Amino acid sequence: MNLLLLGPPGAGKGTQAQHLMACYDIPQLSTGEMLRAAVAEGSDLGKQAKVIMEAGNLVPDDLMINLISDRIGQDDCANGFILDGFPRTTAQAAALDTMLGERNLSLDKVISITVDEEALVERIIGRFSCADCGAGYHDEFQKPRTEGECDKCGGGNFTRREDDNRETVKSRLKTYHEQTAPILPHYEADGRLIEVDGMAEISVVTDNILMLLEDGRGD
Ligand code: ADP
Ligand code: AMP
Repeated sequence: MNLLLLGPPGAGKGTQAQHLMACYDIPQLSTGEMLRAAVAEGSDLGKQAKVIMEAGNLVPDDLMINLISDRIGQDDCANGFILDGFPRTTAQAAALDTMLGERNLSLDKVISITVDEEALVERIIGRFSCADCGAGYHDEFQKPRTEGECDKCGGGNFTRREDDNRETVKSRLKTYHEQTAPILPHYEADGRLIEVDGMAEISVVTDNILMLLEDGRGD
């Protein structure tokens, strides 16, 4: 199963990807995570990406296309993958079609998660994650079961993203509307797009996605 999660920053793509990974046993390919790892490593890509990410802008298409093309070719993607954060421009969407076509692959479904703008800001400002295993949390909407302890790995170190601040959020949302939202019609046109109400509770969103995916399997 090859899936693409689309939606503005904070819509819940990463959160839902975690559930879909477990359900279908396929990896999440998050370009944001890959870039944050490159920044932490201090690689050339990381050095280039750092300033761009802090400003809430997009890393150049050619760098992103190479990054995802290499990743899709890795062994763990043999049974499928969940794209999260790529494509983000019409050029990236076109390049994705080409790279999948060259491998005789296609996207089974494109899941668009919709969320009100004010809710997005609250979600992003309250987001944190486990520094050890990466599990995602929220100050209000998804607290660890035991305060200060990760549900998944039991670790006690948590971290917040540098770009999850009110200033950067504004430019990330603007970037989304200007450069990413225009790719939606590309997927709408051929019937692969399914829209999910991301305002519902996390578990309800997951159930709705799974239901829509299973419906599609009978086609
Ligand atoms: P994205 O990957 O789309 O940027 P995340 O999955 O990281 O978004 O979610 C952003 C924040 O919102 C996280 O802190 C997460 O816990 C929280 N969140 C995700 N889905 C929901 C939801 N349906 N309701 C409330 N909070 C949510
Ligand atoms: P995310 O974790 O998806 O919110 O991404 C964090 C940041 O990484 C974005 O604000 C961009 O600066 C950068 N980024 C992630 N994916 C892409 C992409 N496909 N194209 C360009 N920039 C990206």
